[in-house]
Amino acid sequence: MNEADPTVSAAAESARTPVIEIRGLHKAYGALQVLRGVSLTAPRGHVVSLIGSSGSGKSTLLRCCNLLEDSQQGDILFEGEAVRWRGAGMERVPADRAQVTRLRTNLSMVFQQFNLWSHLTILQNVMEAPVQVLRRNPAEVEARARALLAKVGIGDKADAWPAQLSGGQQQRAAIARALCMEPKALLLDEPTSALDPELQQEVVKVIKDLAAEHRTMLLVTHDMRLAADVSDHVVFLHQGLIEEEGPPARLFGAPRSDRLRQFLSATM
Ligand code: ADP
Ligand code: MG
Repeated sequence: MNEADPTVSAAAESARTPVIEIRGLHKAYGALQVLRGVSLTAPRGHVVSLIGSSGSGKSTLLRCCNLLEDSQQGDILFEGEAVRWRGAGMERVPADRAQVTRLRTNLSMVFQQFNLWSHLTILQNVMEAPVQVLRRNPAEVEARARALLAKVGIGDKADAWPAQLSGGQQQRAAIARALCMEPKALLLDEPTSALDPELQQEVVKVIKDLAAEHRTMLLVTHDMRLAADVSDHVVFLHQGLIEEEGPPARLFGAPRSDRLRQFLSATM
C-alpha cells in the first residue's frame, strides 16, 4: 500500500474506524438504572454478540445505539463521529436531527417479532423505507429488493402478504428489508427467539451467510451455538454492566466469572 497516496490512506483509515463505538453509556428508565457504564466497539466487518439474562439490558443497549432510546451519559460514535447532545442527564437529547436520521438509516434493526407492515406485500415491505425515507429510485430499489428476497430464499414470496408466510419466512423478509437500506451495520435483537426450533435454522443460515460476507452486526441472542459460530467477539451483560467479554472460543470454552459460568450452564 502506498501510504503517500491520500486516497489510499483515507480508505485504510476508514476501514479501521469502528462502525459503532459506545463509551461509558448510562441509561435509566426513571429510577431504574438499566445500563451503568457500558463500552462496546463494533469494528467494520465484525460480528459482536450480546448475551445475558433477560432484563440485563441487551435490547436497551441495541436501541440506544441507533438512538431509538435516549441515554443520560456516555458517548455513541458512528463511524468515528460522536453523537452531539443537547442538555444533560435525564434532559439529554440528540442535538442534530440530520445526524439522528443518518445514524438510524445506517444501522438497520431486525426485531424479535419481525414487525413487518401487514398491509404491505413482502416486496412493498422491503422497498418502503429506501423509496419513502431515502428517496431512492423505485426501479433500482425494486431490483435490489427482489435480489435480496432471492438471497434469503424467499424470491417467490414477493407478492405475498406477511400473514401468508411462516415466522421463519417473515423474519427472512425482515432481514431483506433491513439490508435494502444498504446499512453500515445490522442490529439484530433476538432474531430467532420467536421461532419454532425447525424454523430457527433457516434464519440462522441467513445470519451465517451475512457473517461470512463480513457484514458488521451487533447480535443479541439466546442461541449460544449461533453466538459461538458467527461472532468475532462476545459480550456478556449482567445487570447493566459488562461482566465478561472476549472471543467466543475463550468465553464459551473457559469462562472466568461465576456469573457467566452459571448463565452458560443454565442456557447450554
Ligand atoms: P434484555 O433485552 O436484556 O432482556 P431490556 O433491555 O429489555 O433487557 O430491559 C432491561 C431492563 O429495563 C428491564 O428491567 C426492563 O424491565 C426495563 N425496561 C425496558 N424497557 C423499558 C421501558 N420502556 N420502560 C421502563 N423499563 C424498561
Ligand atoms: Mg431483549
